[in-house]
Amino acid sequence: MEATFPIGHATKTVRGSGATPAAMRSIFADDLREAPYWWDVAAPVVLREDDLPRTVDVAIIGAGYTGLAAAIQTARAGRSTLVIDAGEIGHGCSTRNGAQISTSVKPGEAELAQKFGLERARAVREEGKRALQWIGDFIGEEGIECGFRRCGRFHAAHTPEAYEALAAAAEEHRKEGIEAHLVPRAEQHRELGSDFYFGGLVHPAHATLHPAMFHRGLLDRARAAGATVISHCAGLGLDRGRDRGRDTIELQTSRGPVTARDVITATNGYSGALMPWLQRRVIPIGSYVIATEPVPEDLMNRLFPTDRNIVDTRRVVYYYRPSPDRRRIVFGGRVSANETDPRISGPRLHAEMARIFPELADLRISHSWAGKVGYSFDSLPHCGSRGRVHYAASYCGSGVSMASYLGTRTGQRVAGLAEGCTAFDNLPFPTRPLYTGKPWFLPAVVAWYRWRDRREVERATRSRVGEAT
Ligand SMILES: Cc1cc2nc3c(=O)[nH]c(=O)nc-3n(C[C@H](O)[C@H](O)[C@H](O)COP(=O)(O)OP(=O)(O)OC[C@H]3O[C@@H](n4cnc5c(N)ncnc54)[C@H](O)[C@@H]3O)c2cc1C
Repeated sequence: MEATFPIGHATKTVRGSGATPAAMRSIFADDLREAPYWWDVAAPVVLREDDLPRTVDVAIIGAGYTGLAAAIQTARAGRSTLVIDAGEIGHGCSTRNGAQISTSVKPGEAELAQKFGLERARAVREEGKRALQWIGDFIGEEGIECGFRRCGRFHAAHTPEAYEALAAAAEEHRKEGIEAHLVPRAEQHRELGSDFYFGGLVHPAHATLHPAMFHRGLLDRARAAGATVISHCAGLGLDRGRDRGRDTIELQTSRGPVTARDVITATNGYSGALMPWLQRRVIPIGSYVIATEPVPEDLMNRLFPTDRNIVDTRRVVYYYRPSPDRRRIVFGGRVSANETDPRISGPRLHAEMARIFPELADLRISHSWAGKVGYSFDSLPHCGSRGRVHYAASYCGSGVSMASYLGTRTGQRVAGLAEGCTAFDNLPFPTRPLYTGKPWFLPAVVAWYRWRDRREVERATRSRVGEAT
């Protein structure tokens, strides 16, 4: 039985309940697509026709931003390159994301300096800025049509205390040369037509693009450079081999074996048993997104006067923005402590959207989808090599620029190019005892974070109401 919700009160799942009250209108549009909104113009593709080469210089597993960006570099450097993906090309995170491009390194300088020393800490932070600048330059040089724009981001404070923390962060950003300015609550409507927040911080250099069109642009360029890209071909195992006196890797795939001089695993949040070492370090976390039916133009202009990316300061964050044509709202977050499906996550996201923007309570959901973000135990992206097997992963929800950037650098490194070096190379990549790739601890952690977020929002709301009366 399909879930049905009264519009404007979308807080409860009605499953298997039989009759639907006539007064209830589904919160889902009649033509709901349980697929990313981005797929309307660039859906994942099936590429099965090429024969699987038996020997290559470089075999890349995973055809998202990481794998394709790496393939462009290795193929252009004259290395025979094979990219395989277990599913359609583009069915992973790279066509499912929220389209927000930031500086991508979450831990601050002080935290990193404690672990790696000040010099490495600064170099790591610098990579975040570099990746943000790099993606715009790369798209421009390659002529990829994907609506890239430096629209800026508004980081919205869910409590007065969170606003104070943003003010302290702004000071740190300024020292690092990252442009940022505070917007107090009294001026918030310049940025966002909502009273839910307590001011925020604007990062003008942050950017956006159409994620699936960008992915398609990478795919086209990898193939144009000579890479063979094959869908529905799973990497099953990696073994060491030797060929004409050289070390090689024997890659077992669902379509047969391949001998490669180098292998790049670009599987991120979808990493499985292919490389158990990586699987023990990447934490797959479900993230959920909806797109709405078209919003009237004057309402859109009132709610989103600046067209920036929005993300809030809650531990379990919500992120959203207008669609590139400013007709719909693309609204994402982690809405369940347990993994759930888009028919269940959609109404929960809608309820949150309506809490922030009560005017949107009647708007129906046109698309609802999910994807698996790759996280790490130290909240950092990681890349490096284990012998002839190379990896880049765990972008912690900020991978649009970082996955493409580290994929590019990994491809360059494998091709023997000096520009392939990064400050992330072979940083310690932590795991935890008993962790084998199934994040059993996540439901409890998310439930605890959500409870704390909820309490803080309730307290802040009470104080706001108190002020107003
Ligand atoms: C809902 C959501 C919202 C997000 N929002 C943002 C955002 O706003 N901003 C931002 O910067 N980042 C965001 N991200 C993160 C960003 O999308 C990712 O970091 C980035 O796309 C990772 O790219 P990737 O190529 O490493 O992985 P993916 O694109 O996930 O590709 C990995 C591929 O590996 C394949 N694979 C796995 N195992 C095998 C195997 N054994 N054999 C063959 N193939 C295999 C999978 O099929 C998959 O296609 C979001 C992610 C999600 C899910």
